[in-house]
Amino acid sequence: MAYSPLTDKIIPAHASNYSVGRSGQKVIKITPHHVAGNLSIETIGALFQNPTRAASSNYGIGSDGRIGGYVDEDNRAWTSSSATNDRQAITIEVANDGGADTSWHVSDKAIDALVSLCVDICRRHNIKSLVYDGTPNGTVTRHNMFAATACPGGYLQSRLPYITDEINKQLAPPPPKPEPPAGGTYTVKKGDNLSKIAKKFDTTWQILYELNKDVIGSDPNIIYAGQVLRLPDNSGTPEKPQPEMTLLEVVRRTMRGEYGNLPERKAAIEELGFDYAEVQRQVNINAKYGNWNWDSIKLY
Ligand SMILES: [Zn+2]
Repeated sequence: MAYSPLTDKIIPAHASNYSVGRSGQKVIKITPHHVAGNLSIETIGALFQNPTRAASSNYGIGSDGRIGGYVDEDNRAWTSSSATNDRQAITIEVANDGGADTSWHVSDKAIDALVSLCVDICRRHNIKSLVYDGTPNGTVTRHNMFAATACPGGYLQSRLPYITDEINKQLAPPPPKPEPPAGGTYTVKKGDNLSKIAKKFDTTWQILYELNKDVIGSDPNIIYAGQVLRLPDNSGTPEKPQPEMTLLEVVRRTMRGEYGNLPERKAAIEELGFDYAEVQRQVNINAKYGNWNWDSIKLY
């Protein structure tokens, strides 16, 4: 028996709407769906409790970001019109806070919850990273790869590259510790020499030697792994100036998901010197008109 600990409510689907077990297959994929309506996790759960529904999903996510559990991860939900896919996939129905005229828009809260749920699923099933390559061979798959359906809807489909990236980012091990700041110290590693270290910190081997004569001794060509060297105060390169951005470019990048979701998105846009409310207003109008391509996005 297994549901994600992120599940807010478990509403078991009727036993006639899913298969017990996964025919020996392991969970290696995730398939996000859209429900084509602004349904709560309770309403989605009620649909799957109808014994004649002949459909279900492992999870559902409401526009409020809450997560419902309907079919235990040990079992195959009937969601994607493909037994092969669903035996290997956790399927997730996502509510839409906009209709067909918004390409079935999905709320930021729901997208964030989807990312968090997928990260948790991957961790528990030992999936190191996900691949969305637009084919059923990838590990993020879509309903419309297996049947003539609008699912997962234009908006959610357009966000799948971002969603996959975000999941993989959160699954990645933490980056190695940065080098000490200018004026700090550097611990010599195997294979280092003074020129190499000097290059790394934008200085010269002569300056480094001068600063560290007491540690290095009389021969600058001989240093040992583990020695701690002082770095000059002026080492390191100045920050490169940011290229100038236009409002249109910020709107385009926002729609492409480059700034992530709230609250990071607001902070990132304000850091660039733009009015978040205006950017969001432009994004909403473009979304309303279905302008999701870079070149079709414009200012209103
Ligand atoms: Zn679907």
